[in-house]
Amino acid sequence: MAAPAAHDGTQQRVVIENCSVATVDASDTEYPSGHVVVAGNRIESVGSGPAPSGLENVVRRIDAEGHLLTPGLVNTHHHFYQWITRGLATDHNLFDWLVALYPTWARIDEPMAYAAAQGSLAVMARGGVTTAMDHHYVYPRDAGDLSGAIIRAARETGVRFTLARGSMDRGKSDGGLPPDFAVETLDGALSATEETVDTYHDASFDAMTQIAVAPCSPFSVSTELLRDAAQLARRKGVRLHTHGSETVEEEKFCHELFGMGPTDYFESTGWLGEDVWMAHCVHMNDSDIAAFARTRTGVAHCPSSNARLAAGIARVPDMLAAGVPVGLGVDGTASNESGELHTELRNALLVNRLGPHRERALNARQALRLGTYGGAEVLGRAEQIGSIEPGKLADLVLWKMDTVAHASIADPVTALVFGAAAPVALALVNGEPVVENSRLTRVDEDAIARSTRTEARRLAAIAGLTD
Ligand SMILES: [Zn+2]
Repeated sequence: MAAPAAHDGTQQRVVIENCSVATVDASDTEYPSGHVVVAGNRIESVGSGPAPSGLENVVRRIDAEGHLLTPGLVNTHHHFYQWITRGLATDHNLFDWLVALYPTWARIDEPMAYAAAQGSLAVMARGGVTTAMDHHYVYPRDAGDLSGAIIRAARETGVRFTLARGSMDRGKSDGGLPPDFAVETLDGALSATEETVDTYHDASFDAMTQIAVAPCSPFSVSTELLRDAAQLARRKGVRLHTHGSETVEEEKFCHELFGMGPTDYFESTGWLGEDVWMAHCVHMNDSDIAAFARTRTGVAHCPSSNARLAAGIARVPDMLAAGVPVGLGVDGTASNESGELHTELRNALLVNRLGPHRERALNARQALRLGTYGGAEVLGRAEQIGSIEPGKLADLVLWKMDTVAHASIADPVTALVFGAAAPVALALVNGEPVVENSRLTRVDEDAIARSTRTEARRLAAIAGLTD
């Protein structure tokens, strides 16, 4: 990993001052009225009061009174393609929902994947996400270059991005859930994943595109694919991602097929480690949590999706107490139609307070940390993003907190987490605006709304959902 470059004094500077600042550093340092100076694509300084005087090359100076500045939000679990299958199978548990939707998903093609990625990215960015991820695992034969289309959409939107190149090779005839025509072969999945890593993965400090190796789940992937994928990722030096311990049905499936629970099964296939993060982890016993903590395996907590599919409440307070890295995810938008991460801060806090730890489960600062630094940790990027500290990349969000929705709430971090979804006045990635006044700066939201509707209708027609 390259060390941050020293600022040479000639870089253009952006100054944001006169706002509340929540740094989410190791001490949770906050400034009721503070400043941040951005030089090039890095944070140069952060502190109390106005920015230092005498700064040169200041190209933009923002008086941010009435705003809260935080690190950009980091999403750690999503399936972009589901943007065009929202609002279907709305009263199902996970397995029934998967069985209902797989035949439709198996019909996606490149224009659909591109439009769905644009829609997913647009709504996340507008809600303060500066680092996105997509776990894409549906690669029907002859569907075109789906990974390339998804990465193109991310680059156009301007957000930092991890594509978790997924795969499925356990079709119905092998005891899995997906129909046979929606799965790849073992060798086909592995070679396509390796090619994606070779083509797109950037290991540099300020990388905009990274690739992870991401077989879908124990009930759609063979044991061989899990084992070989872990070896591939370690040979290439990239991260591993999958779904784990999402529902009681999955737990039962693992016991019946493998004679052990999901965490033991993952351990037996090389899938616990500091280079691994898993979505959900709802059904974890004490020894599962201890294994994740011991191996520094990360978790993407997806509270809305878990509620939508009646999966249960992940034991986030126990995971944090044990030292498990935890980030937040929206999950695919066929199981969380909103697709926003800033509302997940609130949902994570509220859902966890319904569990055994009640009002002590999570507080507003912990929720903000899950959505920022915690996410950076599970994506393996905590040295570069996730907190406001000198030398880190300038991925920042300025939340507008002086409207009627928030102005009377006593504390800005509480207002952000407990209050209504706050508008994003400005979102910077690498010091460059991707959102200004709640509008995307680089892509046309209205055109995306039209193309996602067109592609959703085209998919529904091909899948036989409409006449
Ligand atoms: Zn998922």
